[in-house]
Amino acid sequence: MAKGNGESAAEEFDAIVVGAGFAGMYMLHRLRGLGMRTVVLEAGGDVGGTWYWNRYPGARCDVESVQYSYQFDAALQQEWTWTERYAGQPEILAYANHVADRFDLRRDIRFGTRVATAVFDEAEARWELETGAGERFRARWCVMALGCLSAANLPDFEGRESFEGPTYHTGRWPHGGVDLAGKRVAVIGTGSSAIQSIPVLAREARHLTVFQRTANYSIPAHNRPLEPEFVAEVKARYPELRARARTMPSGIDLDYRPLSALATPEDERRTEFERRWAHGGLSFLGCFSDLLFEEDANRTAADFVRAKIAGIVDDPETARLLAPTNIIGCKRLCVDTGYYATFNRPNVELVDVSERPIEAIAPGGVRAHGREWPADAIVFATGFDAMTGALERIDIRGAGGRRLRDAWAEGPRTYLGLTVAGFPNLFTVTGPGSPSVLTNMLPSIEQHVDWIADCLAAMRDRGARRMEAEPEAQDAWVEHASETASLSLRSTCSSWYIGANVPGKPRVFMPYIGGLPAYIEKCDAVAAAGYGGFRIE
Ligand code: NAP
Repeated sequence: MAKGNGESAAEEFDAIVVGAGFAGMYMLHRLRGLGMRTVVLEAGGDVGGTWYWNRYPGARCDVESVQYSYQFDAALQQEWTWTERYAGQPEILAYANHVADRFDLRRDIRFGTRVATAVFDEAEARWELETGAGERFRARWCVMALGCLSAANLPDFEGRESFEGPTYHTGRWPHGGVDLAGKRVAVIGTGSSAIQSIPVLAREARHLTVFQRTANYSIPAHNRPLEPEFVAEVKARYPELRARARTMPSGIDLDYRPLSALATPEDERRTEFERRWAHGGLSFLGCFSDLLFEEDANRTAADFVRAKIAGIVDDPETARLLAPTNIIGCKRLCVDTGYYATFNRPNVELVDVSERPIEAIAPGGVRAHGREWPADAIVFATGFDAMTGALERIDIRGAGGRRLRDAWAEGPRTYLGLTVAGFPNLFTVTGPGSPSVLTNMLPSIEQHVDWIADCLAAMRDRGARRMEAEPEAQDAWVEHASETASLSLRSTCSSWYIGANVPGKPRVFMPYIGGLPAYIEKCDAVAAAGYGGFRIE
């Protein structure tokens, strides 16, 4: 179709979803169920989102596989069988593909389609989205399902472009894999992605130099193949297990104990830490309820992990540098397979850049401490412009042409992490202001998608053409979220939760920390009250 002025006409839909990760896929399924004509626009070449892009060696989810999966369809839940306690990226991507096939999702997804602008047309109360290639799509409703950790953060090191070898970002790993055998490899960063990839890279590379700005706490994964009997038991009890997970603050069925670390005698405390360390994974921080609220309590867990690191790493100076000094759990806790022990290998070297930052990237390596560390390849494990980055990289303009970037100049403001005042008919799945990254993403995604789908069904029944969060409701939610965050030690360090990893980003604790159960209750109450806090036309 072509308009008289030579510009191609926009394609019309009831709803547009941006992103075909787990959020966009399920959103499409629900909107189809409502009979809405829906298109999904996806920049990547296939489904999977995070798991499509993050193909770095060792990539694995640190939520147990039987929990990191959809629960909306009982048959799907029964027919898919996870093979490992923590699924690796290829298996999770295979699962995403299975879901796409099973529900025939691809016919409504446009791959290789990166949205550049999204503009609200006030007269028509419709969104118009345009890609860099000039394709245009219009719909009454628009759902941004962009992922919380999808906009790569690539620090602007001086001389970055001068490097003569290949460079890779963990979140944009080449699909064909990378052969680093016999190479000298520099890794910049020691967050979750680095901690997973370093042990694997160290086995492959001739020499590995790790540049660490902040040491991180990591708990062993003790990953293993799943026993068929365990899988059968989980499948038999899925409804009960899923329901129990929804009562947990993180939406993960973990062993949370309502006991104070400080009130527990030292030997008992130590026994419990040992038990958790031997069990492995994120449940480590669930052993005492005051670990993320009281510094003295936190120190008991931090000291325990620091002692473990000292016991694993042979060289005392390397062990000292690897031992984190900050609050445990303030930055996202990592889960690893052999991370600290990797530094005992003769081909692995740690360069501490906490006090003297990386000076530059040179043609032949990385400059730090006044010298050059030679490298044939550089891996940037430098994370993401989290939660807001993917939204702000699209030029989103709401009522009155107001840009989202301007509305969020002082940090993101949302009503429930689902909608933004001034941006009618627009939804964000697991947006800032929702529990999102502090929880198991799959159930949080499903809760948001269900809420949005139910809301759109209600809007249709009411004949509504425009729905928008009231600024007062948004202000109240932002204030509540910020007050809640201030109670937790998690808001006290330079983490990506507060945007500290991206120079110039406003420092605001972005996810909602009040726990999934309280959050779901609030969302349900808003819906039950006929969408309280929204102006509906
Ligand atoms: P990240 O946690 O933000 O880590 C980035 C690393 O790069 C940090 O060590 C950071 O140091 C360093 N860095 C950034 N800019 C730097 C600079 N200019 N100079 C030197 N170092 C610099 O990113 P990520 O490891 O990709 O993980 C992000 C999140 O994704 C995780 O927290 C987790 O939520 C999720 N994730 C999960 C899994 C899993 O399920 N197992 C795996 C990977 C990622 P600073 O700490 O000093 O900023």
